[in-house]
Amino acid sequence: MADECLFCRIASRQSPADIVYEDDAVVAFRDIYPKAPVHLLIIPRRHIASIGELDADDAELIGRCLLAARRLGEITGFADRGYRIGVNCGPEGGQVVYHVHFHFMAGRPSRG
Ligand code: AMP
Ligand code: ZN
Repeated sequence: MADECLFCRIASRQSPADIVYEDDAVVAFRDIYPKAPVHLLIIPRRHIASIGELDADDAELIGRCLLAARRLGEITGFADRGYRIGVNCGPEGGQVVYHVHFHFMAGRPSRG
């Protein structure tokens, strides 16, 4: 774990967060500056800086993040209405926190 990484610290409960789901591989918590009525972040427990740092061994872990998204649909009650999943990668992709995360947003119609 990268000690200076905010999301590693959240995953290990060294920093506070409103955690709504966790399992052995993944943690999901509320975004502190929500941009939709429901705005959650899904992270792998293991530190991976960005999509650009993924290698083939990470495929299952990324799949686990998406399975967590399906679970969050059920937990938040948006499984049927739907939700948006987004990932920012790199400086021009809008990534601010360099620990891979999936934005889970629901409750506002998507602009597509
Ligand atoms: P990104 O721009 O894709 O790197 O997204 C980073 C997200 O992390 C932003 O939506 C922030 O609002 C969110 N964020 C930053 N610090 C925290 C925190 N301490 N707890 C929860 N969410 C955070
Ligand atoms: Zn990290």
